[in-house]
Amino acid sequence: MEKTVVLLKPDCVQKGLMGEVIKRFEGEGFLVKGCKMMQLDEALLRDHYAHLADLPFFPEILGFMQSAPIMALALEGDEVIQKVRDLIGPTDSTKADPGTVRGDLGEDKMRNVVHASDSAASAQAELNRFFDPSELLQ
Ligand code: ADP
Repeated sequence: MEKTVVLLKPDCVQKGLMGEVIKRFEGEGFLVKGCKMMQLDEALLRDHYAHLADLPFFPEILGFMQSAPIMALALEGDEVIQKVRDLIGPTDSTKADPGTVRGDLGEDKMRNVVHASDSAASAQAELNRFFDPSELLQ
């Protein structure tokens, strides 16, 4: 069984869409093994989004991700990493297909409702970044 990390971003939390998004993941048979609300700080975000640090819109992303609390989820299931990426759709919500989380609920490239780990290596790094081992169910 794999685990992946999903972040329900500030737009998701502020629009009251957490239940709708979690329902979609649970509906696919994935189990919530960790769940907590967090107010992210700049140091954690610079680590999490290190691959974007040189881009001109990086300060906007830092601001958006700190504009309200997020919910961090650890989801478990068979091939959950790729399947969750497929369920959320591409980064740009306006290009995401109907039926995907971002296609149905996202606004644009930045306000796109969710983050999800994109590989086994990033899932492991993000489990460590967002959760203490004691916060994850077996
Ligand atoms: P993903 O979240 O789909 O894995 P990236 O890792 O490339 O995408 O980007 C991380 C986040 O940074 C995106 O989810 C989005 O919120 C923001 N972002 C990425 N590219 C852009 C862009 N061109 N304009 C505004 N925000 C962006």
